[in-house]
Order: sequence, then structure tokens, then C-alpha cells
Amino acid sequence: MQSFTEIEEKSLNAVNKWYQEYQKIEYFNQKKVLNAFRECRINYQHFQLTSGYGMGDVGRDTLETLWSKIFKSEDSLIRQQIVSGTHAISLALFAMLLPNDEIVFLGKPYDTLFKVLGETDKDPGTLRELGVKVKFHPLSDIEGLTKTVTKTTKVLYIQRSKGYEFRNALTIKEMENIISKVKKQYPNIIVFVDNCYGEFTETMEPLEVGADLIAGSLIKNPGAAIAPSGGYLSGRGDLIERAAYKLTAPGVGKEIGPSLISNSTLYHGIFAAPHVVAEALKGTIYIASIMQILGYKILPQIEDTRSDIVEAICFEDAEKMKSFCRGIQKYSPVDSYVYLEPWEMPGYSDEVIMASGGFVEGSSIELSADGPLREPYVCYVQGGTSFTYIKLVMDSILQEEWGIV
Ligand SMILES: *Cc1c(COP(=O)(O)O)cnc(C)c1O
Repeated sequence: MQSFTEIEEKSLNAVNKWYQEYQKIEYFNQKKVLNAFRECRINYQHFQLTSGYGMGDVGRDTLETLWSKIFKSEDSLIRQQIVSGTHAISLALFAMLLPNDEIVFLGKPYDTLFKVLGETDKDPGTLRELGVKVKFHPLSDIEGLTKTVTKTTKVLYIQRSKGYEFRNALTIKEMENIISKVKKQYPNIIVFVDNCYGEFTETMEPLEVGADLIAGSLIKNPGAAIAPSGGYLSGRGDLIERAAYKLTAPGVGKEIGPSLISNSTLYHGIFAAPHVVAEALKGTIYIASIMQILGYKILPQIEDTRSDIVEAICFEDAEKMKSFCRGIQKYSPVDSYVYLEPWEMPGYSDEVIMASGGFVEGSSIELSADGPLREPYVCYVQGGTSFTYIKLVMDSILQEEWGIV
């Protein structure tokens, strides 16, 4: 067994080597974001609250313009009233799909999406009830995708991040290959990307390589733990308009939606995101390296290209997984005294254990670890707004909980 100091030194080396490369990505993204702020002439007027309908809310509207510049889209819908990533994705699905339309999912979508699709004929308000045809295509067979997708397919759904699968995120380069291959044969298809956890991990975003619409959560990467709530959609103007009609009502669409909390938190969040994502990744690599040294299978591997902030650790043992999550919880700034138990969460079919003791409830750009309690007991760890803090937590788990000295 190696000593703590040996493990620490090796892992810090892994972090430093990776970070030399990654600094360029952070710099590029920070510049892109800053330029958008300057072009949009952001000022204090944009941080004011509005009430009621929120007509003529310049803070809200300008935030959407800013977002479109950063993510290279025609239009965006960034709302405090979008409650979660699942909500944003669900809005996108109902905006794109009509009865008898067909959607092809590349890979297994995130767990909560199955409730949106509808598991039985009786589930109300689902895509199934609407009469949408759903097909799945395995990620392992990109070659065969243009056979599952046909000229009757309306939407191709791609999930960038790993979700609760033991795989790497799809990189921008991989998405570019997939999208260009499919669009070459079916130019009218709508490509949707679930962009949760992917923002600012690379220099480009999916809309720059041919996606038509993306969605994500503001309590993940683009909110940088500063935004207290919200979700976003960005992409083709006609699709954003349809999504806005679903969020509010046809006719009013984007025109209404009050800023009941100051948009300064959302502006500050997107501004801080490139740096916070870099800190989170740095911490994640430290954790990954340690877990690898301890003999666990991890994905991504240290040297892999990252396109999300999530590290998957395969524990192959329920108790060990729980002990890791409990450690993350114990060394959190909020709810540190809480003893975690796996629980049935709305939207998930297996029991899930979730460690998160950040300032925004459920926020997973803050240090958090979660996973369904099913074999092979893979835990997903992500977030953390400072490398120092993440290292402190991991060191404490090693030394205090697992007795490695
Ligand atoms: C987190 C996540 C979601 C769902 O977001 P919630 O805010 O938890 O509803 C969807 N897809 C992926 C890939 C995610 O990581």
C-alpha cells in the first residue's frame, strides 16, 4: 500500500501536466465570454428586477442575446422559470415533436428522460401519449446510425455527457463526425444535443458543429454555482420560438417572464463559468488519479479528451460507493452532518445516492457525487468551485475515512 504522500504527489503531477494544456481552453472561453459582455454593453440596468408579466425586461432579453453570441446561435431561451435540466430538455422535445413524428436517440438517454418519453400508455403528458415514435440506436455503432435514422426521422437526439453510463462524453469532434454524416444523407433532420455538463470543457460548443438546438441547466456548468436556478435552450430561431410557446403560451412566447431574482446572478454565472469549469476539472482529475492508483476503474482516463466535467468511478461494491459519497457529504460546507442513504428520487427508476452540500440546492457544478445503486456500482463525481477545496475533501476521505496515512 502506498503512503498518502506518494499518492498525493503522483496525483498532483497528473493534474499539473493536464492543466498546462487546459489553461489554453479556459483562456479561449473566457475571452469569448468577455467579448460577448462587451458587445452587449452589459450595465447595471440589466440587473434590475421586474414583476408581473415582465414585459420589456431588458435584463432578461439581453441575457438571451449574450447567450446566443457565446453559444453561436440565432436565439436562446434563458429563464429562471426553467427549473432543471430535465425541464429544459423536455421543453425542447415538446417544441420539436408532433404526433406521428419520429425521434432517434443515440445511446441511452439520461434516466429522468424515460419519464418524459412515457413508460406506459397510461402516463399522462408524455411523448408517448402525444403519439411520438421513439427509436434507440447504440452508441457503439456510429456506422449503422444512418440506417436507424431514415428520411421519416424528424429529430436525432445526442447526449454529450455520460449520464449514468460508464462511458466517456462525446467530444465535439465526435459529434461533428456524427452530425455531418447524418446531415449529408438527411439534410432536413433536426439535431438536438443534451449539453448538460459539457459547457466550456472544450473551445467549441455543439451548435458550432451542426447541432440545431441544445439545452442545459444553470445549476450546472454555465451557472458556475452563482446562478441560483434556471435552464437554457439555444439554437435555431424557429425552434426557440416553439419552445417559448410551450414554456409560456402561443402568442406571448419569449415576451413574458419576470426577473423575480436579479439577473446579475445569471450574468455573473456565465462570466465565471469558464474558470469554475476549469477548477472543477482540475479537482476531478486529482480525484480520478487517486482512485486509479487505489485500483479502481475510472472514465475518462487521465489522458483522455474531456467533454464533460464528470468522472465515473467504478466501485464494484455498494458499500465502498456509499462510503465515498458519504465522505463527499461529510466535508461539504452545507449539510456536512447529514448521513446519506440511497433514496427513490422522482424521475429515477433505481434508488439513487446523492452527495451534495453546496450553496444552491442540488447544484452539481458544486462538488457532488451521485449514482444509481445498481451493478457495477458506478459513482459519478463532478463539480467543485475551487481546486483547493476539492483536494481538501479528497485528502480527508483518504486520510480520515479510509485510513491511508
Ligand atoms: C443532469 C443531467 C440531466 C438532467 O438535469 P436535471 O437538472 O438533473 O434535471 C440531463 N442530462 C444529463 C446528461 C445530465 O447530466
